[in-house]
Amino acid sequence: MKQYGIIGHPLGHTMSPTLHNWGFKQHGINAIYEAWPTSPEDLPAFMEQYRREQVQGLSITIPHKQAIIPMLDRLTNRARAVGAVNTLFWENETLIGDNTDVAGVVNPIKSRNIAPESALILGAGGAARAAVAGCQELGVLAIGITNRTKSKAETIALDFGIEVVDWDLRHDLSPELLINSTPLGMSGDLELLSPWNATHLTEEMTIFDLVYNPLETVFLENGLQAGATTIQGIEMFLSQGLEQFRLWTGIALDSEGARNLLLEKLT
Ligand code: NAP
Repeated sequence: MKQYGIIGHPLGHTMSPTLHNWGFKQHGINAIYEAWPTSPEDLPAFMEQYRREQVQGLSITIPHKQAIIPMLDRLTNRARAVGAVNTLFWENETLIGDNTDVAGVVNPIKSRNIAPESALILGAGGAARAAVAGCQELGVLAIGITNRTKSKAETIALDFGIEVVDWDLRHDLSPELLINSTPLGMSGDLELLSPWNATHLTEEMTIFDLVYNPLETVFLENGLQAGATTIQGIEMFLSQGLEQFRLWTGIALDSEGARNLLLEKLT
């Protein structure tokens, strides 16, 4: 049986096993996808074992997305552009790191036939890097980034050649596309918070929240009320996962079936 899995620390709850094991079952593939919580100290030993046992594929999440890079044979252009890896796959004996989070940002926007000319990314962590790379892939002309800790936004701005916006002045802008890559709105202590003031949302905007639990965040609810186009974080999760499955098996999963499966889990 082929083995696949996800590593992270703390791994917490992840929907990736649900998605990939469903995909294997749908296509009669003799494989299993498991969650392997792995601490930073254990990462080198894990990777040695991974290579020895020729595990077929791996999803990488916080905090390993950058730390894993020196342990790989090659990066795809997408992973190099983002500076982070969320997927490992083999090409013969070569272990390759890719980043499907970019597709996770690009595909939901493309599928709505939206071609924004300006975008503002809220937050400057790992997901923000994928969001910026995604906006560049989409050809967005003016891309800005804003973050509570300005220095982190400056680093990303320098890496990608985009503008930094002061967190306190972010509402002075009215971008066509707003992407939330902070955890504001996430279930728990932050659930009632939004990274963007409702009074500064307009119907011309597209609001993409990368937070997917809850499905409908305060940010998205405010966007809907303002008449904006909204994109839920589940769309990113789904697209990045479908792209991983395609990399590993060459198979394009039925996206509607996969979406329904994830929605069942989240509601
Ligand atoms: P990360 O690397 O920890 O970055 C989090 C960013 O949010 C940092 O820039 C941080 O600012 C900012 N932030 C945190 N708390 C804040 C607060 N109270 N007020 C203002 N800013 C705050 O996390 P990440 O990996 O980029 O993930 C960010 C979010 O995206 C998470 O909610 C995650 O669930 C979501 N995500 C979704 C998907 C998907 O498939 N839909 C994929 C990846 C991530 P500082 O620099 O000031 O700390």
